[in-house]
Amino acid sequence: MNAITQVDKIAAPEDFFTGRYHLTIAGKLIETKDSFDVINPAIGEVFAQAPSATAEQLDEAIVAAKVAFKSWSVLTYDERQSYLERYADALQEHRDDLVRLLTLEQGKPLETMAAPEVDQAISYIRQIAARRLPVEIVEENDSHVVELHHVPLGVVGGITPWNFPVLLSLWKIAPALITGNTFVLKPTPFTPLTALRFGEIAQRVLPAGVLSVVTGADSLGPQLTNHPDIAKISFTGSTETGKHVLRSAAGTVKRVTLELGGNDAAIVLPDTDYKVIIPQLFWGAFGHQGQWCVGIKRLYVHRSLHAGFVEAFVEYAKTVKVGNGLDPEVGVGPVQNKMQFEKLKTFLADIKADGQTIVLGGDIDESQSGYFFPITIVDNPPEDSKIVQEEQFGPILPILVYDEVDEAVDRANASIYGLGGSVWGRDIKAAVAVANRIEAGMVWVNEIHTQGVDVPFGGVKQSGIGTEHGRIGRELFTNPKTVFIHKIQK
Ligand code: NAD
Repeated sequence: MNAITQVDKIAAPEDFFTGRYHLTIAGKLIETKDSFDVINPAIGEVFAQAPSATAEQLDEAIVAAKVAFKSWSVLTYDERQSYLERYADALQEHRDDLVRLLTLEQGKPLETMAAPEVDQAISYIRQIAARRLPVEIVEENDSHVVELHHVPLGVVGGITPWNFPVLLSLWKIAPALITGNTFVLKPTPFTPLTALRFGEIAQRVLPAGVLSVVTGADSLGPQLTNHPDIAKISFTGSTETGKHVLRSAAGTVKRVTLELGGNDAAIVLPDTDYKVIIPQLFWGAFGHQGQWCVGIKRLYVHRSLHAGFVEAFVEYAKTVKVGNGLDPEVGVGPVQNKMQFEKLKTFLADIKADGQTIVLGGDIDESQSGYFFPITIVDNPPEDSKIVQEEQFGPILPILVYDEVDEAVDRANASIYGLGGSVWGRDIKAAVAVANRIEAGMVWVNEIHTQGVDVPFGGVKQSGIGTEHGRIGRELFTNPKTVFIHKIQK
């Protein structure tokens, strides 16, 4: 029998790390009989147990969300805003705890990566809470008016990956809730803890059933995507899993937003003063251990710059320390999990077997228990090699030489993915012209990874369907409903 615990006794600051983690279902915190191991990737050891939900418990969360939808969806925007602001306040109280927990479970450096992630997530809730989708008049004459209402969908199911467990979840939850939906989140089993804690914190301020967090095996994912009472799946993860989600959602014609994989190219044009931009390019590729969807995964440099560029890039890379994210000197933490660590080794093996030129890194210190992968830079591997064609999602970067800008654009676009990309050059007009030819949902010119609550974020081709952020992103948590009104009483 699963224990139900009083909401107000949980996740007090003193037991944030040592206390048990709970599912949240119907406003209650649930301790489960079964649990699963959570590994700290910096030491490669289990450091916590996360609750493992049964299929029945996920069902209960969905039923509770369906019940809560009735009253949540009819609140005014102002009322929902005030709930979300209280939620942001409650998270803010635990900001430092969430930051530390994020580094422990995910590995990312605490000050430079985990803290900004939590801060951005809290700020995102506040900003989204202030946004509205008011009724619009789309047609009107003397006798008739047509209103367009943006009505909430119902229960939204969120499925998230392990690279940004806090931010990516709240990017889904906040817009879903402000537009009147209720939400059931299934985080990845690799990084469940921060999500469980922000689920617990939510129960103090949100009505029961509005937000539930349910962790357990990957099999909960298909249960959510198949479920007839889930109106929409908001998914972030790999393209492969995204295809499963899409197939499964077809059964009940669910709405889906899919934020999937990428193989983003950065193109450094011949007129670039590359010494100035090397730190941006380096962190654009190696920040978060290279584990970001819009990370630079292929770096195309014009032949005239190539030799000096590689030398300067490697020099900069050598200044960056790899290690435990709790160490303030560390810039690149461990790879998040063993599966990904092993996958990265297959890239390295292929690079070595093919005799490609490794100009930095490439040797793993197997004596370390953490999943530390050295910053690895490969100079000009063949275009058809694994490291160029596939998404590495880790700290290995190919630097590729090109001769003609048209050729660089063609090579950048020769991918099943179309998530992001960047173009770098002194002639801004020329750089923008190149950016306009990149087949991607987001392209940056002389900057990278800037984003905003009103700026659509999403991929094209096999990088996804739909978008997050912006008015478009919020509209995707609603159905358009047109109401035709004859003005003259008969
Ligand atoms: P993943 O696809 O392996 O897992 C993502 C989530 O899907 C997890 O919660 C997992 O439990 C769940 N899942 C697994 N099988 C499922 C199924 N059959 N049905 C439903 N859910 C299922 O991805 P990952 O390894 O956690 O994350 C890395 C990938 O995510 C990379 O490809 C990266 O590019 C991508 N990503 C994309 C974005 C974006 O915004 N486009 C952002 C971050 C990460």
